[in-house]
Amino acid sequence: MAKKKVNEEAAAPEVVEVTIPSTDTKEIIIERKEEETAEQLQEELSIAQKLLSLYYLQQVCSKIDKILVERGELPNEVRDLEDALEGLKTRIAKYQADIKEIQAKIAGENAKIMEAQALIKRYTEQQQNVRNNREYESLAKEIEFQTLEIQLSEKNKTKHNATVEAKTEEIKGFEEKVNELQEILNQKKGELKGILAETEEKETELRKEAEVYKSKIEPRLLNAFERIRKNARNGLAIVQIERDACGGCFSTIPPQRQLDIRLHKKIIVCEACGRIFIDKQLVEEHEKNNQENKE
Ligand SMILES: [Zn+2]
Repeated sequence: MAKKKVNEEAAAPEVVEVTIPSTDTKEIIIERKEEETAEQLQEELSIAQKLLSLYYLQQVCSKIDKILVERGELPNEVRDLEDALEGLKTRIAKYQADIKEIQAKIAGENAKIMEAQALIKRYTEQQQNVRNNREYESLAKEIEFQTLEIQLSEKNKTKHNATVEAKTEEIKGFEEKVNELQEILNQKKGELKGILAETEEKETELRKEAEVYKSKIEPRLLNAFERIRKNARNGLAIVQIERDACGGCFSTIPPQRQLDIRLHKKIIVCEACGRIFIDKQLVEEHEKNNQENKE
């Protein structure tokens, strides 16, 4: 196995084996150079290793993010549809209860009408046997009153029937909507089930892989990484320099700072967005070594 350099910088340590972006990550083994102290080497190498671990953790996290984005709206859509259906069913039940109540009122009006009709019949018969005009007039007034009562009840019935009809019509509309939403819900649920079946296994695998990288990163740095990631709109906490600018926020990076990033003697973050920088060359060399080690 050939000895590979992590990068071309004079201060860079030589490596025999390098971490590889997979679950069976190997440790970086370093060889001491005569002109450098072991502490210096260890320090620089551990920075490179930390950056690479963060970089590969970022790759895995981005893949998980992509899965969540793909799945993203479906769970919400399913939940919203279920809520909407629940709401419609509650309204239907409420309207049906209203209709029952109104129908009881209609029955009440019908009873009143029958009662009034019976009274009118009785009063009309009594009018045949009156002893005087005053009695006749008194009965006539009662008959008139009951006739008005019947008219009032009929008016109420008409009003109630119209309400029942309107509510029945609305229930019909709700039921059509329920059927429509139910169909969409079934379809979305099917889609979600399919996506979950497709991606759940992959997600579990990626999360395991992420844990391996996380275990290699000190908690303080990992916390910083998670914090930056949470605040970054694209979920990127570690970025490379792209055309003299931050790969995360595109702010220009001064040449001296770019040089410091290339030397990776310490962890450098973007002054504008706080993202951690990793030198492109460090990644490329690492990937190249990996490739050659595999061959
Ligand atoms: Zn930035």
